[in-house]
Amino acid sequence: MTLFPHLLSPLDLGMLSLRTRVVMGSMHTGLEDHPDHAPKLAAFFAQRAAAGVGLIVTGGYSPNDEGRLNATAARLATEEDARPHRQVTAAVRDAGGHILLQLLHAGRYAWHDKLVSASAVRAPINALEPREMTEADVLRTIDDFAAAAALARDVGYHGVELMGSEGYLLNQFVVRRTNKRADRWGGSYDNRIRFPVEVLRACRRATGPDFLLMFRISLLDLVEDGSTWQEVVQLAAAIEQAGANILNSGIGWHEARVPTIAMSVPRGAFTWVTRRLKGKVGIPVVATNRINTPDLAEEILARGDADLVSMARPLLADPSLVTKAREGRSEEINTCIACNQACLDNIFSDRRATCLVNPMACYETELVSTPAAVARKVAVVGAGPGGLAAAVQAAERGHLVTLFESADRIGGQLNLAVRIPGKQEFKSTLDFFEHRLRTLGVQVRLGHTAGVQELASFDAVILASGVQPRSVDFPGAEHPMVMSYLDVLTGRRLAGKRVAIVGGGGIGFDVAEYLTHGGEDDSTNVNTFLRMWNVDESGAMAGGLAGRPGPLPAARAITLMQRRPGKPGGRLGKTTGWVLKARLDRRGVELLGGVRYVKVDDQGLHITVMGQPRLLAVDTVVICAGQVPHEELGAPLRQAGSKVEIIGGASRADELDARRAIREGILAGLGVN
Ligand code: FAD
Ligand code: NAP
Ligand code: SF4
Repeated sequence: MTLFPHLLSPLDLGMLSLRTRVVMGSMHTGLEDHPDHAPKLAAFFAQRAAAGVGLIVTGGYSPNDEGRLNATAARLATEEDARPHRQVTAAVRDAGGHILLQLLHAGRYAWHDKLVSASAVRAPINALEPREMTEADVLRTIDDFAAAAALARDVGYHGVELMGSEGYLLNQFVVRRTNKRADRWGGSYDNRIRFPVEVLRACRRATGPDFLLMFRISLLDLVEDGSTWQEVVQLAAAIEQAGANILNSGIGWHEARVPTIAMSVPRGAFTWVTRRLKGKVGIPVVATNRINTPDLAEEILARGDADLVSMARPLLADPSLVTKAREGRSEEINTCIACNQACLDNIFSDRRATCLVNPMACYETELVSTPAAVARKVAVVGAGPGGLAAAVQAAERGHLVTLFESADRIGGQLNLAVRIPGKQEFKSTLDFFEHRLRTLGVQVRLGHTAGVQELASFDAVILASGVQPRSVDFPGAEHPMVMSYLDVLTGRRLAGKRVAIVGGGGIGFDVAEYLTHGGEDDSTNVNTFLRMWNVDESGAMAGGLAGRPGPLPAARAITLMQRRPGKPGGRLGKTTGWVLKARLDRRGVELLGGVRYVKVDDQGLHITVMGQPRLLAVDTVVICAGQVPHEELGAPLRQAGSKVEIIGGASRADELDARRAIREGILAGLGVN
């Protein structure tokens, strides 16, 4: 008997039958934007299809030029655009999978000068104002959608998903926030939903009855002047009537100020909304957002919240998620931790998406693990994320690996990260590595600081000894009220009630979160989370918002500082930094830039801010001033003739994070010959 009877059961849709209830939701990878990348995209999807994903949805393709996300972003409007797709669909079909192409018109979210929308209302996250579409534009765009759907059918897709949520064009027509029109495409709700409904109808007409049409409907806009629940249900019914086969859930516009997929959002936080839709329509519905394990997915389906579950990022993190679930090997799954650091943050910086915990994602044809020709004796020094990735990768290739770690547990600095409220997901990464080390037979020597002599007997040494905190040298740095982030986060020392944080990087912000947080954990408790962000569960409020989030109680009064001018926080994650800043802002944390540290004495921390003297009358100063490499073994090992590779923080401490450490670890493991 399978452990996941709901998740792994097929779904008969009439025109085709899906093998499992797992939908790989649409993710832009950056590979869509250039036809030369078709072989890479084909390998990426085929790997997931072969592992049992029921239905794959591609990244978004615009049906015309106006709808492109940027001037060169993916488009499906001509035979030439369509040709490279044959390789992708053939690869997925050969692997036994089903695949839909997503049609996405960016509307006012487009970053080019041809952008259009229902009305000329600029998005708060875009500097450009859209042009209001004329009647002729609207009719032509409907035709463009239909033509693109027909092209998708011709090149072998099983269907298309129409992107009707997240605040893109179809969604922009539906709500008053962005639709100010007075013609038949605006005004009453019937008029405002006419555009998405006509688009769907036209796609059905153009593709015939056997082509799968999935519509992604915005169940909660999470913006002011969004749809009410009654309106959402009306749209769902109209979309079903127009010929859709599946309704996928969309939660929150891109401009929404409620986090919906970050690590601080509890797992499965929004499945209650999909459940509310089920029963209101006769077609299957898909639950989405923060569903990252087969256990949770099974629970959602068993509870009747949805007919299918969408997992997008979790299938970047582990392409074999479904196979491992089927074979009872769930503990081997590399779980998506919702950090966004290598997937969405990459896309928003014009880089190919990949995954912090799986740097091979989207590099399937470039980073390939092959068995080693000769099994070498490999020593890895340091069991932080860099050393863990190196040890596992080298062992997977057949090398005999010994992993040395001074501490009594694996994980390095990630053991500190898991203590930060909202960052507990890193524990899944540590559990994954722990399990891999065990099954691969890596010899793990905990509580053992490796020295030059013992390392000399190995064929290769990977030095992943990480970083140590940078010390500061302003007067009073030795005062008893001064402590490092290590003191605070390990619980060695207790911070007082009034705290100054020196350093406004990722660790400074995390320490501020740690010290101000109190009460129930909103990152694991769904009700607390929804209350904290004022999400309306009654369905009565437009956009699903019950007012603007207000101040939150804070366990301490905090001032967080950096020397460079400007507010700290500019280098936090592109798609998640705002969440952290909003939480701290609501707890009254003061952020200061342009600071010079003068001295610490019994009165507190004396500083100047843009040249103006100021005393912070604090009882604790926490130093979060970055780090320096901890790699004193490098030179002596080389002198002793060892073959050494230095990775992660030990090689360079600036711009270090777990993403870089893991990637370098994987490359080092692949490179041992
Ligand atoms: P480390 O993690 O520093 O590990 C090095 C290990 O080597 C240590 O365990 C050490 O004990 C061991 N060692 C050293 N010398 C020896 C020796 N001679 N013998 C045996 N063992 C030795 N990064 C992110 O990407 N995202 C985040 O959200 C994030 N949050 C963070 C939050 C906090 C509070 C902190 C402190 C860090 C966070 N980081 C985050 C940063 C991330 O943890 C580090 O970038 C990463 O751990 C560096 O990995 P590493 O393997 O190079 O070194
Ligand atoms: P960091 O991001 O480099 O920040 C160090 C801070 O200290 C800066 O604000 C810097 O600003 C200040 N500083 C540097 N030298 C100083 C000195 N001599 N005296 C006083 N202040 C000084 O480093 P971090 O915060 O330690 O983080 C380490 C790494 O972990 C980072 O690379 C980060 O990406 C990663 N991390 C990531 C996350 C995440 O959420 N993605 C979270 C935590 C950590 P000024 O020089 O302007 O003063
Ligand atoms: Fe998940 Fe982070 Fe990987 Fe993105 S980078 S898929 S959020 S683990």
